[in-house]
Amino acid sequence: MTELLIRGGTVHGPDGPREADVHVTDGVITRVEAGGPIPESAALIDAHGMYVLPGAIDVHVHSRDPGFPDKEDFGTLTWAAAMGGVTTVIDMPNTVPAVDSAGVLEAKAALAHAKARVDFGLWGLIRSSSTPDQLEALAAAGVIGFKAYLGYAFSLSRKQVLYSPEVGDPDLEAPPDYGTLARVAPLIAELGLPLAIHAEDPTVLSAFRRPLETYSDLLESRPAEAEVVAISAAAAIAKDSGLHLHVAHLSSALGLRAAEDAIKSGASLTLETCPQYLWLTEKDYELVGTSMKMFPPVRTAADRDALIEAAANGVIRIVATDHAPHTDEEKSLALEDAASGSPGVQTLYVSCLELARRLGDESLAARWVSEGPAALAGLQETKGAIAPGFDADLVVVDPKGTTRVTPSLMKSRQRHGALDGKEFGFAVRDVFLRGQAVVREGNRVGRPGGRMVRPSRFR
Ligand SMILES: [Zn+2]
Repeated sequence: MTELLIRGGTVHGPDGPREADVHVTDGVITRVEAGGPIPESAALIDAHGMYVLPGAIDVHVHSRDPGFPDKEDFGTLTWAAAMGGVTTVIDMPNTVPAVDSAGVLEAKAALAHAKARVDFGLWGLIRSSSTPDQLEALAAAGVIGFKAYLGYAFSLSRKQVLYSPEVGDPDLEAPPDYGTLARVAPLIAELGLPLAIHAEDPTVLSAFRRPLETYSDLLESRPAEAEVVAISAAAAIAKDSGLHLHVAHLSSALGLRAAEDAIKSGASLTLETCPQYLWLTEKDYELVGTSMKMFPPVRTAADRDALIEAAANGVIRIVATDHAPHTDEEKSLALEDAASGSPGVQTLYVSCLELARRLGDESLAARWVSEGPAALAGLQETKGAIAPGFDADLVVVDPKGTTRVTPSLMKSRQRHGALDGKEFGFAVRDVFLRGQAVVREGNRVGRPGGRMVRPSRFR
């Protein structure tokens, strides 16, 4: 029996912050209370003056593993995650080979298990050719849900998802469309899992396609209407089939309104946005450059403000990162050709704490990055809260510390990101994964000990 006691911190539990000790036995939280006896054998962590927060669950990361080791792998991804207080990452299925069958999922899980410093879950891929047998086998193998990339074709030879609006290439299987969603929705609903969508309607995008010389070109080429149409159509299908729809990386005020309308009409939706949409606007491009190129794009101040308001009032319940590293070379090309995506997992928690502080309610941060994500991923019985019976995934944060986002801080293989240069008034000091220290005093400790998480049924 190993015991751990984190003493005297301000614990951000389900009932709000209070000063308390967190008792842990064999990786599980047993008691959260002030004072009381100190077990003789317990390892003691002094957390006076610190916040003790539930480990973050980033439901939207791209490990690039297997497939693109020069961009990232599970080792570097989860090192960065641990350093930022993210104790569970849920990896998207567009690795190579893409996670479209139980066999691929099991091979990926084994590979991740060998390298992971935090727990991990895996999304499964929806292809236009996905069969009920494949989806049932993926569910049985433990996917936390399915992801459909509207407008992204599947390369049969490369076993890979490609953004390719062109049609007619025999190597490219048609991207999943609304017909695909309607076909798979009843089965996924019955399996009790969520369906996440990349919500940009491809027909709207192709109508607005243009050369990308300036950031305005990029914005005009990916209008918010693409988000509106994709969310509205997918939500209509979800409502009719009892499916839970998860909207990944919501970026626009119009998309938000469409999602709110769908929720009012009775559809079951969760909304996710990302720190880059909460911290940046189009105006930042001049300074940030192609580190800010991502799909959907960072938009206007009005979009940012609408997303912040929705996160503050609980309409958006999840902040994830869409952590999507590329090589320096791929990001240093001109806007048209630069790869799209930015790393972000390491700064998820501190950026959310800073935003929550500015909104006057610091407890929002743990709701956005831990409680909301745990419910989406079907992990709400073991993760997402500091309470007896939960995994001791615990983050000790200095609320008077500073995290300056610089390349030298980053443990991801891609060290430049969209939030470069930002400063947040919090610093992650210690991180525990099921009671085991993975970060102490801001440094990585221990060996990879992450495990695959599997969802209890969604509802
Ligand atoms: Zn993504």
